[in-house]
Amino acid sequence: MRRPLVAGNWKMHGTRGSIAKLVTELSVQAMPADVDVAIFPGLIYLQTVLAAVADCAIVVGSQDCAVQMEEGALTGETSALQLQDLGCSMVIVGHSERRQLQEENDGVICRKFIAAQSAGLTPILCVGETLAEREAGLALLTVQRQVDAILLELGVDVLRNAVIAYEPIWAIGTGLTASPEQAQEIHAQIRAHVAKYSASIAQELRIIYGGSVKAANAAELFAQADIDGGLVGGASLNADEFSAICRAAGN
Ligand code: PEP
Repeated sequence: MRRPLVAGNWKMHGTRGSIAKLVTELSVQAMPADVDVAIFPGLIYLQTVLAAVADCAIVVGSQDCAVQMEEGALTGETSALQLQDLGCSMVIVGHSERRQLQEENDGVICRKFIAAQSAGLTPILCVGETLAEREAGLALLTVQRQVDAILLELGVDVLRNAVIAYEPIWAIGTGLTASPEQAQEIHAQIRAHVAKYSASIAQELRIIYGGSVKAANAAELFAQADIDGGLVGGASLNADEFSAICRAAGN
């Protein structure tokens, strides 16, 4: 039985004031006991948020990490060990915004994945196709290539301590959501692909969906057999909306 995960990616949003308000509001929400809830604030707010949610069952992660685990001469970067030292337990790797805007390729993402795990953090590996790839019938091939960049390089065992987030790029921040059937189809195919290497790891692997998830569509998405929660962008900036999404992932 896979335990659902709902992760809120705050991206480059917030100020000290708005973030203090958001964490205060989050800390009084009724969160479901049978769902893992994680939030991913901007790097400079991590310490404040970690302290603010210390007494809640909410874990805090980073939106990115450096390609090398340990500290070193990498100006502007933050290592996975530094994130672990702060108290983070998860890190998002391969978000489509970084693949596109920072030109991160599968090789870089693989190094970040290794760095995260080596430091004891759980990576959330984001995969997803563009609209053009979907329209050309290449959605599955694209996602499989992104998963294989990890699987073939590192072996299936690394997926014991990882989460995959399927995030069709055309659904991120656009208000367009993949239908529950469209999302389920890709989730099931990712799981079947991993099962070619290990049926038991595939069965345990959490595959969460991201792309304009809101309180209004979360329950239907999370009811799908292979959707184990969500990676939520915009809607995670509102405590009422985010907690409603978390509750939709519970039983
Ligand atoms: C995301 O960026 O991971 C995301 C899913 O954003 P949104 O929910 O705003 O589409």
